Amino acid sequence: MLRSAILLASESQVLRGWMERSRHARALTRRFVAGTSLEEAISAVRELDAVGLRSSLDALGESVGNQDEAVQATAGYVASVQRIADLRLPATISLKLTQLGLDISPSLCRQHLTQIVNAARGGGIRVEVDMEASVHVDATLELVHAVHRASGGVRAVIQAYLHRSEADIHELNRAGVPVRLCKGAYKEGPRVAIARKSDVDANFERLAALLLREGKEPAIATHDERMIRSALDVIQAEKLNPACYEFQMLYGIRRDLQARLAGDGHSVRIYIPYGDAWYPYLMRRMAERPANLLFVLRNLIG
Ligand SMILES: Cc1cc2nc3c(=O)[nH]c(=O)nc-3n(C[C@H](O)[C@H](O)[C@H](O)COP(=O)(O)OP(=O)(O)OC[C@H]3O[C@@H](n4cnc5c(N)ncnc54)[C@H](O)[C@@H]3O)c2cc1C
Repeated sequence: MLRSAILLASESQVLRGWMERSRHARALTRRFVAGTSLEEAISAVRELDAVGLRSSLDALGESVGNQDEAVQATAGYVASVQRIADLRLPATISLKLTQLGLDISPSLCRQHLTQIVNAARGGGIRVEVDMEASVHVDATLELVHAVHRASGGVRAVIQAYLHRSEADIHELNRAGVPVRLCKGAYKEGPRVAIARKSDVDANFERLAALLLREGKEPAIATHDERMIRSALDVIQAEKLNPACYEFQMLYGIRRDLQARLAGDGHSVRIYIPYGDAWYPYLMRRMAERPANLLFVLRNLIG
């Protein structure tokens, strides 16, 4: 019920406009969004680095409305990889292709992604291409494969809730494309996605094992301790070196678990969102765990 209300609120443009401009609302997001500027995000990277955690910077935004916005988003990412390279920080970047103009023109989007990957390559920085709603999966994977063939330096994301994901992983493994595995955050119908949470979890465990055994530098992205324990069993059985895989979690979520895994010698990367367009991101996190809404409201009152 609360989850449905949050999902409904996430679609309201009026609420979004008001929230993103509100000084008070901004204060509430601090736990989950590192700030509105690149420099605030860089401070978060430094703080995490100091405690042995790597980062991936995500300049929030999705589905740009015109070419100028896509060009602007691309320039923002080029600036962020330059800053990461200058400071030699252990960070990748994460981006969404609809932010680079995928819905306007796939060829324009490819040019933008290539521009960012080329800028990142000089500093040895990987570009992680987030996966969005299922209508974008074909185009996203096509572009990731193309850029990987041309230059490398990219990581794909696969969502365990999609029926197609095992076949996609086999193809990515064959091509040597690194993959981040997550459960999936969008509202999808039963034709494309597994409906029951327990079945999504079982698929996640199977796909994580497949990636750890056969994939290139896989990233296991979850806060679910059961998923993590199952991945750790494979890591132990296969005697995998921590340089060959990593766990990934979101900024501000299960900080205890992030620290524990890093303390046990595993590579852990934290996905750090920043920027003005934080509303859809925050609402997805609220819908995943309505208790977060109480956390945010408590901050508002306290
Ligand atoms: C690094 C990273 C990158 C991601 N990239 C993508 C992407 O490209 N595309 C995509 O569709 N999705 C992406 N996701 C989101 C993902 O698909 C899930 O929606 C999200 O991670 C929640 O799933 P979970 O695996 O943590 O398991 P869940 O079953 O949702 O949660 C397991 C446990 O984790 C904790 N937890 C989970 N979520 C929260 C939260 N919001 N607040 C507090 N505690 C929480 C709780 O203890 C919960 O019981 C990404 C997630 C991560 C960690």
